[in-house]
Amino acid sequence: MNANLIEIFSSVQGEGRYVGCRQLFVRFEGCNLNCKYCDTENQAGTHPLCGVETFPGSRKFHDAINPLETTEVAAYINRFVMELPHQAISFTGGEPLLHTAFLQELLPMVNTKVMLETNGTLPEKLARIIDIVDIISMDIKLPQATGEEHWDEHRRFLEIAKKKDVYVKLVVSGDINMDDYQRAVDLVAGVDPNILLILQPVTPLNGVEAARPEQMLELQQQALESLKDVRIIPQTHRMMDQL
Ligand code: SF4
Repeated sequence: MNANLIEIFSSVQGEGRYVGCRQLFVRFEGCNLNCKYCDTENQAGTHPLCGVETFPGSRKFHDAINPLETTEVAAYINRFVMELPHQAISFTGGEPLLHTAFLQELLPMVNTKVMLETNGTLPEKLARIIDIVDIISMDIKLPQATGEEHWDEHRRFLEIAKKKDVYVKLVVSGDINMDDYQRAVDLVAGVDPNILLILQPVTPLNGVEAARPEQMLELQQQALESLKDVRIIPQTHRMMDQL
């Protein structure tokens, strides 16, 4: 089994519940969505090479030829975690669940905690690997970000993900649609009001504007009416100039 990867590197987790933890990142090529604020080249077939860091945190990369076999990727991961302890391997993208069969073969070969950073729209694929992942960072994508509605997929996804360590991340732009925002909060509360919701102010890109500081406080207050834990966490890796 093989897959196209964009890069494998060691850095600081800059988003979500595990912000600040040292993690190993494995970034897949390809996504099933096309968000306005996307900062990743998410088209399949556009990366003939995968950048692999030579030593954890060195910022020096060598090229591996795509597609990569699961055995090659497992060897890179196991070498990285022998050289330096990592809190988890974060499989990100793109959308990692487009590569479920690859992950099913790969994950039994690695001994580190496994985290998925996912757009939360592929519940059937999550169901196939839920038993072999530990942490799920699930986005809720508002229609204004993607041009599509994914409410039902998100709800079914979260119902499966709640068996594991899951939190939900919602990227907030200045022009957020308040009806959709409340619908997202209600969706999480309907599955389990104890699930952590992280409001991530958008990093302005492609004409998408940042939310105002007081607007973030109002949104947090509104969500706290139905959820127990709502946190505002921006993309901290950008502040620290980390990858
Ligand atoms: S889900 Fe993530 S990778 Fe896919 S288009 Fe949206 S921001 Fe980009």
